[in-house]
Amino acid sequence: MMGKKVIIIGGGVAGLSAGIYAQMNGFDSIILEQDSRVGGLCTAWYRKGYRFDYSIQWLVGTRYGTFNDLYKETHLLTEDVEVIDPKYHTLTHLKNGKDFLIYTDIGEWQEYLIANAPEDEKSIRRMCRHMDWSKGLEPFDVPPPLRTPFHYLRALHRNFWSLITLLRFKNMSCSEYFRKLHFKSAWIQEGLVNNYKNDAYSVIALLLMLSWYTKKNAGYPIGGSLGVAQRLEKRYLSLGGKILAQHKVKEILVQNDQAVGVLLEDGERMMSDYVVSAADGHTTLYQMLHGKYFTPKMEKAYKNWTPFSSIVQISMGVDALLKTDYPVQVTLYKRQFGKTGISHSYRMINYGYDPSIVPEGKSAIVIRFESPYEVWNGMTPEEYAAEKEMIAAFGREVVEHYYPNSSDKIEVLDVATPLTTVRYTGVWKGSCQGFLPTRENISKQLEMTIPKLKNFYMAGQWLFPGGGIPPSMQSGKWAIQLICKNEKKKFVCYTK
Ligand SMILES: Cc1cc2nc3c(=O)[nH]c(=O)nc-3n(C[C@H](O)[C@H](O)[C@H](O)COP(=O)(O)OP(=O)(O)OC[C@H]3O[C@@H](n4cnc5c(N)ncnc54)[C@H](O)[C@@H]3O)c2cc1C
Repeated sequence: MMGKKVIIIGGGVAGLSAGIYAQMNGFDSIILEQDSRVGGLCTAWYRKGYRFDYSIQWLVGTRYGTFNDLYKETHLLTEDVEVIDPKYHTLTHLKNGKDFLIYTDIGEWQEYLIANAPEDEKSIRRMCRHMDWSKGLEPFDVPPPLRTPFHYLRALHRNFWSLITLLRFKNMSCSEYFRKLHFKSAWIQEGLVNNYKNDAYSVIALLLMLSWYTKKNAGYPIGGSLGVAQRLEKRYLSLGGKILAQHKVKEILVQNDQAVGVLLEDGERMMSDYVVSAADGHTTLYQMLHGKYFTPKMEKAYKNWTPFSSIVQISMGVDALLKTDYPVQVTLYKRQFGKTGISHSYRMINYGYDPSIVPEGKSAIVIRFESPYEVWNGMTPEEYAAEKEMIAAFGREVVEHYYPNSSDKIEVLDVATPLTTVRYTGVWKGSCQGFLPTRENISKQLEMTIPKLKNFYMAGQWLFPGGGIPPSMQSGKWAIQLICKNEKKKFVCYTK
């Protein structure tokens, strides 16, 4: 007997995860993806033998915990996948010519900071203690409606210190946190305080990041973003799932306040028992559902919360082995191009640590910086082309600066703008990770269901401020847990 039909809109990591669990639980699922391939933001592209990665720098849950279980079940991680744990988070080049390192181990970082800024020893120890206390918060393994007192007690037991830290700092921005620490050293002021100065960005996000790293539970899987997307796709197909690429959903079909299928852009109607939208949240609510169905929390969030900035990525393939001990380097920098610019800093990644990405004897260098979608969206084709030219020239300049005599060995240079991101993924305003985690929203989560719309579920990065692969994928699993509950079926999952 065929199981009930589930249409999943969007083949990003959330949609693929939903599909995998739908198949495990006997549903007849289909993923409709607008692009020619799945992965969404978790992707990479090939140019002349080079592969340029777009997403994963770190992946929470590579060693243990709820996210790790999810990775094993979906085959994001298998025994064949090597995970590396970097020694450094970033090397920041300061304006005065000095460098500032962030280690991924809190203890080592504390020693380094005290050695270079002994006058701040007390504040440094305090900050590192807060990071250590955060203990890499463990998430729930079931969605809010399915949680029982047992789940909350277990969470309290597992996360006692993390929760104390979360409660203490949940309403604090990075700027406010650093103000309270009173760092005296100009080096720390520039390398840490000014670099992370943000009146909105929650300090919890920063504290948790290093606590996950220090537990070696936020590594990088060799193969990067494309490897992840391909393994999820393979798992889904091997469980009997179906993917229809280049199938853009225009509308979610609703009858008597119940989702009954979708209307595709080409006019085709596809009917189903359930619809899970793992596509962009804003598009789902405002276009596919015509702004008719919201919870008050959703409506407030999409009106008031700020999305993460969109970015520009310059990808360069260099015919030379450019070596570095610091794969991720940040340069504090401001520059105007034509209509866009770099407002604060740019990040340069040397992918030498992933042999699957870089052709032998060559190098893949990526530069990223924030760039507002709105500015790009208002350009004429001529302005757009000129802007990309200026940015490409800047890319060459940076490579030459950090790796002298190498710019003439650049074989490929590719500039992806916020409009490129929107074209391939449809993500709202080109946001790279959904909503920015701020002191207002850091502990909030948007609902996956809308009480007035039956048989409809939402999954993906827009549900959780901060976004990222782990919660996006987890929401895919949660959507199927909720559907199983609705069907009065026991939810099953397995790793084999
Ligand atoms: C530069 C960058 C760096 C990042 N670094 C990290 C990192 O280090 N670690 C980490 O955990 N996360 C990172 N992220 C974030 C992470 O990649 C995303 O949060 C995650 O991939 C989002 O997955 P998703 O499935 O929720 O959404 P998406 O990836 O946006 O997937 C949505 C899918 O829906 C499809 N779609 C949209 N509209 C329609 C429609 N109408 N019909 C059919 N299909 C549709 C899209 O094409 C897309 O495939 C990074 C992101 C970026 C851009």
